[in-house]
Amino acid sequence: MKLFEYEAKTIMGSVGIPVPKGQVIKIAEEIFNLKLNYPVVIKCQVQTGGRGKAGGVKFVNNIDEAYEVSKKLLGLEINGIKTSSLLIEPKTDIEKEIYIAITLDRNKKSHILLGSSEGGVEIESSSEIKIVPISGNYNPYHGRKLAKLMGLDQVKLAMVSDIINKLYYLYENHDLELAEINPLVFTKDGKILALDGKMTVNDDALDRQPLFEGWTVNHLTDLSERELRAKLAGLNLVELKGKIGIICNGAGLTMATMDLVKNYGGEPANFLDVGGGADEGRVKRALKLVADNPNVKLILVNILGGITACDEVAKALKTFARENPDRSLVVRLLGNNQTQANEIMKGTGIKSIDDLNLAVKEAVALGSKN
Ligand code: GDP
Ligand code: MG
Repeated sequence: MKLFEYEAKTIMGSVGIPVPKGQVIKIAEEIFNLKLNYPVVIKCQVQTGGRGKAGGVKFVNNIDEAYEVSKKLLGLEINGIKTSSLLIEPKTDIEKEIYIAITLDRNKKSHILLGSSEGGVEIESSSEIKIVPISGNYNPYHGRKLAKLMGLDQVKLAMVSDIINKLYYLYENHDLELAEINPLVFTKDGKILALDGKMTVNDDALDRQPLFEGWTVNHLTDLSERELRAKLAGLNLVELKGKIGIICNGAGLTMATMDLVKNYGGEPANFLDVGGGADEGRVKRALKLVADNPNVKLILVNILGGITACDEVAKALKTFARENPDRSLVVRLLGNNQTQANEIMKGTGIKSIDDLNLAVKEAVALGSKN
């Protein structure tokens, strides 16, 4: 889950990282009710980088300009994401912009600190990024090491190390995958200030993060609406571009089924793992979510009954087939309570094929028809 800049800044502020005093608006006219000391900066709140370059960060000198700019920016699309709120902050007089970030380097199997003394909107092309891997537990030594590599003088080094320590505290305690401040600035009056903030929370850790309870609904950038609905219903759905909807139990079986579909020349429309011990209701919800995807031409269900009882799955399939007579289904349903399942599916018109290769071939053939 990617956080908005104003959320990241609120969280940073809560641990003592200095941030500008900001206010958020969703309607341009709200600007008239704010007490602002001009000049101010108006910033599109979209969960993507590069706003500055895309015209999503504007400076204004008075209320009339602020209103005009707010009207223009609300609704502005940046990297395909529409702006629905703006953050308004006093304009900071910058002496120097630097960059710091913390993330996980999967290749190194290590958390890493990143930093550059040349922060700002050109950071992607900067060759000056320094990296400090965190071996073992984080220690303030790591932060100081990064600040030193960045070539900061004694005073700045102490200020930046302190910010890195605080940012690492948030990274560790809130299960963040990314915590970034770009730019972190030294102001003309000698202070340090986080002018931009990016945070991504590990989705799989949300359950143990009370701070983010209920936030998913407002942070949809990574998820389609159906993926969000699946998540809230406890199902693991990832949508893809193909036409063959896939429902399986277990991530391994789901991926193997997707591989086979590809092998036989088909394109999966999704990954959907109903999990272990799925009952009728759960399978019904899975079928509905997959069928709601307009690209899906056919649904392939591949369930190996273990903890999952095949008759529970069959009941859901029977209802679905009755309610959606124009939907093609190919089903491979083996294992626990298989005989009862076959009994339930008799006469429903559902194509049940026990041999996996044959089932997938049939699904690809039916799913490729227009
Ligand atoms: P991004 O483009 O999405 O990373 O948006 P940022 O919030 O990082 O803003 C982009 C750039 O705008 C920064 O690197 C700064 O150079 C500039 N900027 C943002 N806020 C201020 C501010 O308060 N004062 C000044 N002078 N520049 C700012
Ligand atoms: Mg930035």
